[in-house]
Amino acid sequence: MVKYIFITGGVLSSVGKGILTSSIGKMLQVRGFKVTAIKIDPYVNVDAGTMNPYIHGEVYVTDDGGETDLDLGWYERFLNINLSKENNITTGQVYQTVIERERRGDFLGRCVQIIPHVTDEIKRRIRLIAEKSDVDAVLTECGGTVGDIEGQPFLEAIRQMRLEEGFENTLYVHVALVPILDVTGEMKTKPLQHSVNELRRIGIQPDIIVARCGRMITSEALQKIALFGTIPKEAVFCSYNVSTVYKVPLILDEQGMGDYICKRLGLKGRRPHWENWERIVNSIENPKYTVRIALVGKYAGLADSYVSMNEALRHSGAQCNTRVLIDYIEAETLEEDPEKVEVLRGYDGIFVPYGFGPRGTEGKMRAIRFARENDIPFLGICYGFQLAVIEFARGVCGLEDANSTEIDDDTPHPVICLMPEQRGVKYKGATMRLGAHRIIIEEGSLAYKLYKSKEIVERHRHRWEVNPEYWNILEGNGLVFSGKSPDGRRMEILELPDKFFFFATQFHGEFKSRPGMPEPEYYGFVKACLDRKLGKEKPDF
Ligand code: GLN
Repeated sequence: MVKYIFITGGVLSSVGKGILTSSIGKMLQVRGFKVTAIKIDPYVNVDAGTMNPYIHGEVYVTDDGGETDLDLGWYERFLNINLSKENNITTGQVYQTVIERERRGDFLGRCVQIIPHVTDEIKRRIRLIAEKSDVDAVLTECGGTVGDIEGQPFLEAIRQMRLEEGFENTLYVHVALVPILDVTGEMKTKPLQHSVNELRRIGIQPDIIVARCGRMITSEALQKIALFGTIPKEAVFCSYNVSTVYKVPLILDEQGMGDYICKRLGLKGRRPHWENWERIVNSIENPKYTVRIALVGKYAGLADSYVSMNEALRHSGAQCNTRVLIDYIEAETLEEDPEKVEVLRGYDGIFVPYGFGPRGTEGKMRAIRFARENDIPFLGICYGFQLAVIEFARGVCGLEDANSTEIDDDTPHPVICLMPEQRGVKYKGATMRLGAHRIIIEEGSLAYKLYKSKEIVERHRHRWEVNPEYWNILEGNGLVFSGKSPDGRRMEILELPDKFFFFATQFHGEFKSRPGMPEPEYYGFVKACLDRKLGKEKPDF
């Protein structure tokens, strides 16, 4: 029997449900169980692909080309598993299926309603993941906060699952904020109590309550939560602030959470094997060196816009005993005053991430030029790759006003353009070049040195590409395309061999980076930043 664990949140959003879900998964994994995780997003969008990362955080891309919520990234990083787009369920998808079935006539003669038709569809989708993934436990995180109107059909569906799957096969975990009052330092459990009441009103009695608090909660607060939540004290845990999120499963397991969950669900596992995970956490926590990286982006105001990239940089740092400090520099600020770009001189590396549309692109290109001319280690990802091509075309090949047609449709030199298959695309949703694609790597290149393979598979999310008409002039001037699609039509990796480290990829390696297993281009970049700082002649890979 598969066990279903449901995670809900209260008081406010962003209390770390994604990290908690991942941590529960980890506690089961180290006891020898196979797990998978689902994120429910109650918004009406079919997927996260059409949402602004500045408001909602980054769009995470799965191997099968899903444009999903960033929590799937946490599940993949913590659990080292590859999920499908089906692991992100939204209101949009659920209604799309129900309405399609209604039009087909599947419900002829009946009135189609939220209960049972919508809730049945939600349960079908959750069970489908359980069937497909051959696991011991399915973790389902409900996005938003208990009490949101959008979330109600989902909570109703998971409420019904207790009846259908049985008490011993279902577990409700509720996490809520316990604020600490500035003045008295007192921990306030009342908001949490209210959110538990709200959950009960819907018909769900939590089995476990996790207090999200700045510090470990006092035994007094813990007792109050147990009393008002009607659960034993042993079922109350505290997720307090720690130096790295990867520590959260460790502190919760120390409080007995892993054992409690297993006992409650009748799971008989082995003694937890934390050694490997602890080693990873230690390498993140106690590095010897530090590098400072300037991330020049357009969504710089919200760190969540670049969460996978941040993590990929940190995983890489941990691998070479280095703390990576990232400063977010709003690209547009480099446009106002040409002198501003000088701030970049103080950094060990310059990083230009993904992006869309014209805003900030001239500033990003200024940063890229600064990296190239001053030989500061540079890594460009996706838009960062395309903008590096444009900057090279302008600055080295003499193609004045070269651009991407995404930025300027009338550019005399469209070095980045839409491929024929993208030109007729009318619908914006899920129509980019998405997901895992193969890349062939040139032997003897820096790319080959980093990936140590002639072929890799990486995730993508873009519409525009390097224009084939300009390959010759770019390469003739010294730009090396060291990775290409197997049919040779798409440029995937660029490098400047005479630089200390100048590297960019059309794909997004950050989506495959895991703690303890950093992605090669991110690792190469961070190592190059460190080696240059240490005064080495060449990066020492
Ligand atoms: N805007 C560019 C494109 O669509 C790059 C996308 C990205 O950076 N993910 O091709």
